Amino acid sequence: MEVLKMANSRVSLLRHSLNSFLPPSATSTFTLSILPTRRFIVSASISSRETFVDSLSSQEAAVSSAGSETPKMSNRWKPTCLYFTQEKCTMMQDLTHLQKFNHSFSMENALTPGEYKNKHSEHLDFFLVLDLEGKVEILEFPVLMIDANTMDVVAFFHRFVRPSEMSEERINQYIEGKYGKLGVDRVWHDTAIPFKDVIEQFEEWMTKHNLCSKEHGGPLHRAAFVTCGNWDIKTKIPQQCKVAKMKLPSYFMEWINLKDIYLNFYKRRAAGMRTMMNELNIQLLGSHHLGIDDTKNIARVLQRMLIDGVVLKITARRNPQVPENVEFLFENRIK
Ligand SMILES: [Zn+2]
Repeated sequence: MEVLKMANSRVSLLRHSLNSFLPPSATSTFTLSILPTRRFIVSASISSRETFVDSLSSQEAAVSSAGSETPKMSNRWKPTCLYFTQEKCTMMQDLTHLQKFNHSFSMENALTPGEYKNKHSEHLDFFLVLDLEGKVEILEFPVLMIDANTMDVVAFFHRFVRPSEMSEERINQYIEGKYGKLGVDRVWHDTAIPFKDVIEQFEEWMTKHNLCSKEHGGPLHRAAFVTCGNWDIKTKIPQQCKVAKMKLPSYFMEWINLKDIYLNFYKRRAAGMRTMMNELNIQLLGSHHLGIDDTKNIARVLQRMLIDGVVLKITARRNPQVPENVEFLFENRIK
């Protein structure tokens, strides 16, 4: 098994002080007392049935038209209900709807846990795979929570994000250009909420899954973000926090860049998710650049790497005193 070299292998902890930077020694850590739940709440609708069916039908058409990317499987791949992922599906009793759209978060083509025998992280209980969308402002914030011991996806968080500093007209153009071609612009308009609200809901979600706690003591429950590149957490999150006039939350202090892990483990450079998927012979599912689909695909790359024996370690860390200063912990890394 490969051993990754690190300048510093300090334990990664998401800290309970969610809205400000504090030096590690001044913060308490998460406690783990209850296992994460697999049940997801379906809340009241914010959209009409017609709107819903239209947007998802066009989504399915868009996905189906990407013929080469549709996997050959005994159970036909289905597009995910993007109202469901945001806890807003009101058609959970409708059999036709359930047959047409995926309403679970099981990983399609997941590798069997039996293959997963090694120890994959010295310090972490969970990996939080994150893949933001939106270059000007964040438009989508998807997170998959993966159990480091079983490799299962145990929970997820997904929100479309409404830009804070754009006119309605610009938002409409932006969304048309970005999500129109994927056929999910309608669901975006139906569900997107401001970044500040997304972060508030994300923190509630983390609390529910015991990824953060105001309680002191108890067994530790540790998680770290896993991203494909440094851009998401190093660059985009702080930018969006500034635009939204928020402090950078303290859980964005460190992360694991899968590209650096990949380089050090396989001794090959991968420019992006698609390269990694090609080289590992993993078929891309869903729509590339739909954040929730990319997150699942990155999670499948992660699963493959875990089975191959990779040990995950933090690859980048902010200076607690000067958060914009990021220290990269691997000597060999993708720049
Ligand atoms: Zn649904």
